[in-house]
Amino acid sequence: MFMKNLALLFLFLTLGLSAQKQVCFTIDDLPVVPYRHAGEAFEAKLTNKLLGHLVEENIPATGFVNEGKLFPNGSERLDTARYKLLRRWLEAGMDLGNHTYGHLDYNNVSTGLYFTHITQGERLTRPLTGEFGKSLRYFRHPYLHTGPRQGKADSLRAFLQERNYLEAPVTIDNEEYLYAFAYDSAMAARDTALMRTIGEAYVVYMEHSLHYYEQQSQKLFGRNIRHILLLHANALNADYLDELAAMYRRNGYDFITLDEALQDEAYQTEVTVFGRWGISWLHRWALSRGLKGDFFDGEPETQQFIRDLTR
Ligand SMILES: [Zn+2]
Repeated sequence: MFMKNLALLFLFLTLGLSAQKQVCFTIDDLPVVPYRHAGEAFEAKLTNKLLGHLVEENIPATGFVNEGKLFPNGSERLDTARYKLLRRWLEAGMDLGNHTYGHLDYNNVSTGLYFTHITQGERLTRPLTGEFGKSLRYFRHPYLHTGPRQGKADSLRAFLQERNYLEAPVTIDNEEYLYAFAYDSAMAARDTALMRTIGEAYVVYMEHSLHYYEQQSQKLFGRNIRHILLLHANALNADYLDELAAMYRRNGYDFITLDEALQDEAYQTEVTVFGRWGISWLHRWALSRGLKGDFFDGEPETQQFIRDLTR
């Protein structure tokens, strides 16, 4: 009996190890997405909670910064409280990347203006990361817009390469921002019951979204690749990131850095089809392979009550 249990345990362990799934959490729009809750105290609390979860859950996340948020309302004076929030991310052991100065949409602005916002977006973040012995290496496209046409996309890639940036793709895309917006409305109305309902619905929705992209990865690569999840620095994640992390663990995931995620050879797959879309890289690769129609079926939808709350 004992030997049988031991054999089973061994089998379980080997299967468990070989089936270990991996995900990198990336968090956009730093230092914070405050929505309607302006104020230093709110933003500091949000950041502390978010970083508390990341540290507690051992998640080596990368945060993507919009430096324009350090100069609110176009002012030239640095908002030192917000600057300190960025420092907190590095103190907590997280990495920072560039998300353009003013969160520009590459579909709608010239390459010249966009490039200016890339260099302007690193003025403070680059020396700050340097202070922590890190370098600013990653770039995340706002709205995941990489260029509507090949020519415009190529120009951006060349510019990023010149400046030693690596693109940070996303495989698990989602409408987390809609849940976050609804959550904020509930918070503004001090409706804690509704906040809880939204928070719980959020984790369920994110699990469906995880399963969907696992399945897309299986269909495209015949295996579950190292994923990159897109989130934002909002109040919803400040309150629910621990439950989100627990859900990922329940699904067999370990948390890895962006460096580690990008070592998966899947990320060498070329994107050869362009559009105005801001979609998962899994779907860019699928489109580049000529896949159409039902390949994309089954993407989980944001619940209607969330949509209603965001109106
Ligand atoms: Zn963004």
